[in-house]
Amino acid sequence: MSRELADHLKYFAEIGVEGVSRDPQWRRRPFDSDGAAASGGLILAQDNGDSLEAIRTDIGPDCRRCKLCTLGRSQIVFGVGNAKARLMFVGEAPGEEEDKRGEPFVGRAGQLLTKIIEAIGLTRDQVYIANVIKCRPPGNRNPDGDEVEQCEPFLFRQIDVIKPRVIVPLGKFAAQSLLKTMDPITRLRGRQYDYRGAALIPTFHPAYLLRNPSAKREVWEDMKKVRAILQSE
Ligand code: URA
Repeated sequence: MSRELADHLKYFAEIGVEGVSRDPQWRRRPFDSDGAAASGGLILAQDNGDSLEAIRTDIGPDCRRCKLCTLGRSQIVFGVGNAKARLMFVGEAPGEEEDKRGEPFVGRAGQLLTKIIEAIGLTRDQVYIANVIKCRPPGNRNPDGDEVEQCEPFLFRQIDVIKPRVIVPLGKFAAQSLLKTMDPITRLRGRQYDYRGAALIPTFHPAYLLRNPSAKREVWEDMKKVRAILQSE
């Protein structure tokens, strides 16, 4: 067995994938038919006239709408990925590594998210990844209500521009923020919601999976549902 294949199977085992199938459907990339390759270049305006570039410009390079600008954030972490992604992940807020690099989910939890994305036959370039808030809260505390209130309109605009088929909120905070509920993640996950034209499928945060590896099984169940929706169209 080649080293590359062994590494791949190890990733799968780590996130709880039980074996692989010979069924070609299993391997088909949900994005093949769409040709949604990485969008390195200019992001085109969508049909409501908005675009990711316009949203980024509106936020500005030194946003001062909430107190996080005075609490040690080093930069705005806007979001990354394909502007036409059919699958979008939404996390809570940038952590230390994300604040340094200006990209969401690049720390340890982010590496696990990358494996989860790869387990359903996609790459990070094919999906879009953003957070509810764009600046790092000090000490990685949960975002405050006023911070969410100021920042979430930009996330909603990102969703409306990208128009993903499926949105996966990662963890309690993102799921509760998007669904405007205080229900625990244990109640929110395992279900599917209609959300801004997308199917919303909450799952556990990868940081939680690092602390509770046994929950990878549930995440894999959620991701199989995501894959089925993407492959059904
Ligand atoms: N956790 C999040 O919720 N978002 C990130 O970007 C990184 C860690």
